[in-house]
Amino acid sequence: MVVQENLHKVQRQIEEACAVCGREPGEVTLIAVSKTKPVDMLLDAYEGGARHFGENKVQEMVSKIPQMPKDISWHMIGHLQTNKVRQVVGRACLIHSVDSLRLAREIEKESERQNLVTSILLEVNVAREESKYGFFLEEVEEALHSIREFPHVKVKGLMTIAPFVSNAEENRAVFRKLYQFYVDMKTKNIDNKDMTILSMGMTGDFTVAVEEGATMVRVGTGIFGTR
Ligand SMILES: *Cc1c(COP(=O)(O)O)cnc(C)c1O
Repeated sequence: MVVQENLHKVQRQIEEACAVCGREPGEVTLIAVSKTKPVDMLLDAYEGGARHFGENKVQEMVSKIPQMPKDISWHMIGHLQTNKVRQVVGRACLIHSVDSLRLAREIEKESERQNLVTSILLEVNVAREESKYGFFLEEVEEALHSIREFPHVKVKGLMTIAPFVSNAEENRAVFRKLYQFYVDMKTKNIDNKDMTILSMGMTGDFTVAVEEGATMVRVGTGIFGTR
């Protein structure tokens, strides 16, 4: 049961990172990123205790959901095209990858149609990488103000994909910067947001992200192996 061993190792590493910085492990939600992996591997992780799964492709998520137990929370973590929004709203408990106002508006429209409120995170391109999606930090506050007008969308926090680095320490400053901004946004009184989630950290750098304040980490390779 290599998946379960990996999962438990990641959980221990999260606990250790929490101990280092005086946080409670219960403050950090582990999302098992199962993209490209077959359902039997997801079931192994489920039996090992995983209840949050992350997928980056709409079609793949939609096809896996009916094959898995019902008490799973599904997270959409990949870049989302507006024409796929219809399939995600009502299925994903949280869309991490909202990278434009246009996408937020589409989520609003579809959520209204389905008569529900969709929780989202704004994706932030902290390191300003050209290859990455997301708002620049200085664009986030204005986006929050605009999304205020969307009654069927609730901004729950921020997400980032840190640069690909060989040493996780190189991303510490990125995580710290987003944490500080997140705390800053928390204190602002903007309707229609409730900043309680900071989604950052992947296989290579999640312990550093936890030390810097992540409340959700997204770990794929570290649980399911290389893709
Ligand atoms: C694939 C992916 C992950 C997980 O990456 P690993 O390095 O395999 O842990 C996390 N976040 C996003 C947005 C991803 O697309």
